[in-house]
Amino acid sequence: MSEMPDEYRTILVITAHPDDMEFGCGGSVAKWCAEGRDVYLVVSTNGDKGSSDRTMTSERLAKIRAAEQAEACKVLGIKAFTILNYPDGFIAETIEFQADIVRAIRTYRPDVVICQDPVRRLSVFAQHRDHRVAGSVALDSVFPAARDHLYFPEQIAEGLEPHKTAEAWVMGVEHPDVYVDITDYIDRKIAALRCHVSQVGSGEGLEERVRQNAATLGETPGFAYAEAFKRLKYRR
Ligand SMILES: [Zn+2]
Repeated sequence: MSEMPDEYRTILVITAHPDDMEFGCGGSVAKWCAEGRDVYLVVSTNGDKGSSDRTMTSERLAKIRAAEQAEACKVLGIKAFTILNYPDGFIAETIEFQADIVRAIRTYRPDVVICQDPVRRLSVFAQHRDHRVAGSVALDSVFPAARDHLYFPEQIAEGLEPHKTAEAWVMGVEHPDVYVDITDYIDRKIAALRCHVSQVGSGEGLEERVRQNAATLGETPGFAYAEAFKRLKYRR
């Protein structure tokens, strides 16, 4: 039984960094792919700051992270992915960035967009600014920008059509209202995360941490392992 309605066949995940999808919704994505849905990924930044290795350069890191993302997408069954190549740490709510996200929505024409939480929480819980910015621009793009033809009319002139997305599912939120049972897909989530060697290293402690988090999220719905989202429904 799937928490994702059957009629939703196309899902677009929009994140800030390579590996955000795997941490936030890798089990759900594996499940949706296994159910025969088309899942696409757009990563906003190239992840070129995420290293504590003092000999690492941003240029080299961006290449490594793109290759890691490609491997992880294969593990999960993602149909296609794009990295927009904005510099890690510095994405902003610019018109240029929004145009890129709107273009992705008008191209892939998703029933559901999965994105990050745009809200800054006043807690010690580590929350990256890029995550908030990517989440905010994703939601602003779903409604109203991708929907209305007078936003980015140059895209319409090129042949793209306006698109109405039915729902956005926001991951990493404080108060989720939909839980996906990923019990059968936790291993695949962990395998996808292991592809991001530049971030998780040898993966020591990774599996335990991921299982623990997913088990905690599973307590409310009564699943062994879960991922959680806040669901926003739009009028179509
Ligand atoms: Zn991130």
